[in-house]
Amino acid sequence: MFGAETTSTWLYILLVLAWFAFGYWGATIAHKKQYSFWLGFVVGFLGGILGIVVLYIIRPNKKRPANPHSGERTGYDPAPTGAKGAPRRTKVCNMCGNLVEGKEQYCPYCSERV
Ligand SMILES: [Zn+2]
Repeated sequence: MFGAETTSTWLYILLVLAWFAFGYWGATIAHKKQYSFWLGFVVGFLGGILGIVVLYIIRPNKKRPANPHSGERTGYDPAPTGAKGAPRRTKVCNMCGNLVEGKEQYCPYCSERV
């Protein structure tokens, strides 16, 4: 009786440990795929082996940390702010890299011709 109870207790502990192991496993996969560590943990913890499979299948998170230069555009501006007339052209100065409005002949920052 006592022995059986001890065995079931150990089994229970083992089960819980395995459960957490799944959570940690999921978290590791999620972390490698640029997802949140805790997201992977929750998926692995709640989904078990199914959650692990899901984490293996999903594609890596392509979202990168916010980069102020990601919206960098050169030349033609496809979204003119003025409603009608010729669309505004924005150029990038070859000397200093600042944005120069199309009507400007010279860079206002470094006086280089654009
Ligand atoms: Zn310049």
